[in-house]
Amino acid sequence: MTPSSTRRVGFVGLGAMGTPMSQRLLAAGFEVVGFDLSDAARAQFADAGGQAVDSATRAVNAVDVVILMLPDSNVVEAVVRDPAFLESLQTSTVVIDMSSSEPLRTRELAAYLGAHGVRMIDAPVSGGVVGAQKGRLTVMVGGEPDDVAAVKDVLDVFGRVVGVGPVGSGHAIKALNNLLSATHLLATCEAMLAGQQFGLDPEVMLSVFNSSSGRSGSTETKLPNFVLPGTFNSGFGLRLMLKDMKIAVQLADQGGAPCDLGKEAVALWSQAAEELDARADHTEIARWLKIVEANGAP
Ligand code: NAD
Repeated sequence: MTPSSTRRVGFVGLGAMGTPMSQRLLAAGFEVVGFDLSDAARAQFADAGGQAVDSATRAVNAVDVVILMLPDSNVVEAVVRDPAFLESLQTSTVVIDMSSSEPLRTRELAAYLGAHGVRMIDAPVSGGVVGAQKGRLTVMVGGEPDDVAAVKDVLDVFGRVVGVGPVGSGHAIKALNNLLSATHLLATCEAMLAGQQFGLDPEVMLSVFNSSSGRSGSTETKLPNFVLPGTFNSGFGLRLMLKDMKIAVQLADQGGAPCDLGKEAVALWSQAAEELDARADHTEIARWLKIVEANGAP
């Protein structure tokens, strides 16, 4: 889709997701000004036709829309609460936090920006690096309908846009989605190992699960694409997944909803995060399980 008039987007965070997402905006005809702490990420962005700058403040200067695609709420707040960030914004700019952040902190941040006349929405995504490359993400948008409408042309570039409620709602639903995703990935890996030990063929197991009630995004996508081939290269870090799981469990606790299974999943993923490399892909939870089994630990 081509923007009706050329719109300038300031993009902060050109990592595994931000790189393909910013490239899709460029391909759709938007002017994109980008910043990342990483020199390599900025160089890759410039090679793709983006205008790379050397600070977040410069990236958001005189743009229509700001997109943040950063690791977590701590980083998002460090960027947005820098007084120079606010000074660089036009009051007409809409700030979109597309990172997977903490919903209550997002509400507070939106209120802070709102007090200075700047609108903010949250629009985290699901679909991974491949979904980002192909424009097939699910975009979960929280915010005032008028603010969402003002940036719909930008969000449409990324995939299916779903309005989910007021600001912070996108971040809540995203965390809950990833708690589900992580829990069934670990459960699937456990089932696969038990089956292998019994002598079942992994490909046959997956084929049966995928036409039966045990199927999920783990059996349909993650096991066949990243685990069984041993590539473990989905592009989504294990520590980022664990961050999202903790957000979801905290959300349950705050509302008084039971979350015993979720807490157990967090405990197991936390153990994996301690034992695996800091940069481990989240699909390496399968490798971790095998290591634990080989050592005879729990
Ligand atoms: P990533 O670690 O690959 O990228 C984050 C980028 O932010 C890095 O390039 C880093 O250099 C940059 N950065 C950190 N601090 C910065 C700062 N102060 N200023 C500017 N840049 C800074 O992470 P990612 O996989 O792209 O994920 C980004 C967000 O999207 C996370 O919240 C993650 O949970 C979420 N997410 C990731 C995926 C995925 O498949 N990778 C899918 C959906 C959602």
